[in-house]
Amino acid sequence: MADSESLLDPRISTASELGDLPIVEEVELGLIRVLAPNASAMTLDGTNSYLIYGVDGSAIVLDPGPDSPAHLTRISEVASERGLDIRAVCLTHHHLDHSEAAFSFASSLGIEVFAHPECFDKLSFNRLKLSGRASISGIELEIIPTPGHCGDHLSFLLPSGVLLTGDHILGRGTSVVVFPDGNLTQYLDSLNRVAGIDFSRLAPGHGPVMDKGLGEEVIRYYLAHRKQRLDQLVAAIRQNPGVSQAELVDLVYGNLPTEGIKWAALASTMASLRYLEESLVVVQKANGRVELLDAPHP
Ligand SMILES: [Zn+2]
Repeated sequence: MADSESLLDPRISTASELGDLPIVEEVELGLIRVLAPNASAMTLDGTNSYLIYGVDGSAIVLDPGPDSPAHLTRISEVASERGLDIRAVCLTHHHLDHSEAAFSFASSLGIEVFAHPECFDKLSFNRLKLSGRASISGIELEIIPTPGHCGDHLSFLLPSGVLLTGDHILGRGTSVVVFPDGNLTQYLDSLNRVAGIDFSRLAPGHGPVMDKGLGEEVIRYYLAHRKQRLDQLVAAIRQNPGVSQAELVDLVYGNLPTEGIKWAALASTMASLRYLEESLVVVQKANGRVELLDAPHP
């Protein structure tokens, strides 16, 4: 969901066209991206699964993606062609386009799933520590908590400097803060946390890998985009006191092409309203109407 308004998306001249992303890409020695066949308005080109491997051939799969036998077979083939031994599955977050295949894939290989401690309620999995370095089946990763898109979102920094960003930062468009699990205050904090990391490239859960310069520009664009949305919401509420949430989506986003995009816009608007409410800028009445509080804009 790229913004066509005043902010310019820094990827506009560099990113490949939607649909042009290679299915298998050697990002660097030790990292292979494998694209799942689940392209949609919400998942862009489809979900990126990553094979992360070490010099001894041990490998982990980050985000095996949707339960697509063809995709899982491809991941296994890409690994075996290179003599890699997949020893664990790791997840950036619980959303099904990343995690649906996690347990079936892991059990088919007799290996285990590693994820944020709150990723699943009832399933048995390895709960990752929420800071510092982890060694998963011999693969070294630094765990960077990046809540905001959803509560259990993690990013992972490889020793090479590649930062695997899941849905926190995407290769195209902007990420949805999926209210109420997602939280805009946390999302902005997580963007600032990632901005402070000396990464070499950003490897997202959807869309192309970005080099350092572009990645830094995209983070600034994401922060500016959120501020612009908040400003637009405040202006719309100022002009339409007592406006409803649904009316605000129409006022700020205009005509949206699909139900999926409308849902994402509503989720982001609700997350923004919660943020503005917590910042004492707006009040949401019991009848769903929104008004400005007499307070300075944050
Ligand atoms: Zn996703």
